[in-house]
Amino acid sequence: MSIEPPEGLAKYPFLPEAREYLSAYGFTLDQFSDPAYKPILERAVARVTRAIEGGEAAEPWEIEDKVAELASFPLAVVLVASTGDRFLARRFALAEAVVAQRLLNSEDEGFVLDVARRVFGMDVEREERTVGGIQYRFSMGLADYLRSASKFNDPTWKLVNRVVDRGRVLVEARELVRLLRDRIEERVLRLVEEAGRERPNLPQPLLQEVERIKSMIPRREVEEASIKATARPEAWPPCMKEIYGRLVGGESVSHFANFAIASFLLNTGVRPEEVVSIYSQRSDFNERIARYQVEHIAGMRGSRTRYTPPSCEKMRTNGLCIENGRLCGPVKNPLQYYRRKLRELKKKEGGEGD
Ligand code: SF4
Repeated sequence: MSIEPPEGLAKYPFLPEAREYLSAYGFTLDQFSDPAYKPILERAVARVTRAIEGGEAAEPWEIEDKVAELASFPLAVVLVASTGDRFLARRFALAEAVVAQRLLNSEDEGFVLDVARRVFGMDVEREERTVGGIQYRFSMGLADYLRSASKFNDPTWKLVNRVVDRGRVLVEARELVRLLRDRIEERVLRLVEEAGRERPNLPQPLLQEVERIKSMIPRREVEEASIKATARPEAWPPCMKEIYGRLVGGESVSHFANFAIASFLLNTGVRPEEVVSIYSQRSDFNERIARYQVEHIAGMRGSRTRYTPPSCEKMRTNGLCIENGRLCGPVKNPLQYYRRKLRELKKKEGGEGD
């Protein structure tokens, strides 16, 4: 590995060598009460602020003090963990990974390959070939590629659209860096979770920073109470309950699943702003984009057509039907299930009131 500390480590503080290098300094959390360490604390807080404000749009910055840059990373991890906020943890991991992705795109390919193989154990090899005008630089083992790329919505990642040769998938340099970004994000999130489990005792100046950070986290309540009042979730079909649960848990789902839940809820009378609130738990939440998409589905923009949810058949094709419809009886559309169930519920409630 050719990175010379501390420049490379300051840029990629999640690397195992960074931890080793820092341990030589023997920093302790109590030291951050000392004004001499203020630049490190300030940089750590700036890292967290960059994540809150930028999320997926976070940009690399000028590195002035390499040691402060490097040491600010584990300190920022501790600060994020101490807020106990899952959304912030995911957003911080996303921002750190996106910044690393931007920096890695300008690195030597040998360095990128080394990080992929040695640090993240990815099954990647050099393979310089041009096919159909595309310059491929690496190949990935099929299993590793599928594990990495299956969550992407863009059709270019689908296996049917890839060049596969003797069980290996050819990838471009930028694509490998994009796949690495997800591994980095996973690693940073794991570091935050570990720091959260350790629950270190923070000195007063750090506790103050944690409180300040908490006040910066945007309010992003899912408007569950009003959604429940309008839409009666107990009448939702299992497919919609599943997508909803994943979204409010902060998970990403496919474009198709996003469309399905949004169109379903809008057709049950849930207001667009309430639908937007469901996406607010995602670490890459961008309210402007989410609002635009939901309003489009609601028929408030463009063609002014309000979309209906996909049929059960389409849901099945997209792997979103639960247990192949066994729990639903003969329905053609999730909305049909909902209306039927709602009638049953109302009848029961009317009966109970007699
Ligand atoms: S049968 Fe239809 S409503 Fe039921 S889970 Fe499948 S897609 Fe959803």
